[in-house]
Amino acid sequence: MSITDALNRPLRDLRISLIDRCNCRCPYCMPSEGFHQAYQFLDKKEWLSFEEIVRLVRIFVSLGVTKLRLTGGEPLLRPDIDELIRQLSAIKGVDDLALTTNGFLLKEWAPRLKEAQLGRLTVSLDTLDEAIFRQMSGQQGSVKDVLHGICAAEHAGFDSIKINCVVQRGINDHTILDLVKYFYGTPHTVRFIEYMDVGNQNHWENAQVVASSEVISLIDAQFPLQRLQITQNRSTSETYRFKEGKGEIGFISSVTKAFCGTCSRLRLSADGKMYPCLFATHGMDLGAHLRGGATDEFLSHLIRELWIKREDHYSEIRSSVRNTSKTSPKIEMFQIGG
Ligand code: SAM
Ligand code: SF4
Ligand code: SF4
Repeated sequence: MSITDALNRPLRDLRISLIDRCNCRCPYCMPSEGFHQAYQFLDKKEWLSFEEIVRLVRIFVSLGVTKLRLTGGEPLLRPDIDELIRQLSAIKGVDDLALTTNGFLLKEWAPRLKEAQLGRLTVSLDTLDEAIFRQMSGQQGSVKDVLHGICAAEHAGFDSIKINCVVQRGINDHTILDLVKYFYGTPHTVRFIEYMDVGNQNHWENAQVVASSEVISLIDAQFPLQRLQITQNRSTSETYRFKEGKGEIGFISSVTKAFCGTCSRLRLSADGKMYPCLFATHGMDLGAHLRGGATDEFLSHLIRELWIKREDHYSEIRSSVRNTSKTSPKIEMFQIGG
């Protein structure tokens, strides 16, 4: 079965946040001044159990979801995540099972993720410069840890890894070419992401956004690029190949080139709230219904109701929303995982 929303977009992808905690404090996501020792993260009892997640995923699959992405906070902090991956990968109808991580714990986890049948891996890495990395991670971890994690993932058999880099003007934009050079000729794809106004704490300003068009020109001058045909029209990323060598590179331009028209994603927080958009202000508490004894039919009905009424397209109307209205607080990125 497939369901479409009010703007005729099918439900295809589910992003599952497994935990709201993180071992990093990226100022653009979870700035340390707001997320300190005393911050009240979810209690472990509030996390959906693996059994609950698997039950919900089966329902989502019956409604047309084929792609799952596990995220967080930092998903590798969720104990026994490999057991969950094993169970999710066995669900008929799940064609694509991916995970996004900051890579700090990847060295230890990579073999077990592969054994559990995780399909694809995305690792966040904003720069190769240790000092800038520490600035962008809230003084946590190191470039070395992440690169060791990527190496371990290659050895474990993840042959094509996506590397996510959030670009912030005046912070890491002068290190873009280093990242391109480092991964040039490897099977991995670096994806440059425009800095977004997610959540309520990162003090986002448009002036800090480096448009993908600018990044493309910068890279093209040194590594000539050719735009690839869009094969997967639901992909958020525009992909280019290097004209003079093997490999690809991607750009996620959610600020300057919104892709809401093809957005087929639903997001589930660690405590089971469903969010129809990265910029949603309110989540539908599916977890409470599940724990209250709802049947699969009723849970399916709730998901369907949320999706068919969905009209979200924040990135297309960002400037008017930001300029004209005083909106309720948005969900934070670390709660729904990007
Ligand atoms: N902790 C994991 C990680 O960092 O890979 C997974 C969760 S994180 C919220 C998912 C992705 O969101 C990361 O690639 C991160 O760089 C990206 N992200 C976080 N805040 C962002 C922002 N303000 N603008 C653009 N991307 C952002
Ligand atoms: Fe943690 Fe990922 Fe957010 Fe950085 S982007 S603070 S690693 S959840
Ligand atoms: Fe999807 Fe919302 Fe992002 Fe638009 S703004 S692409 S609807 S998550």
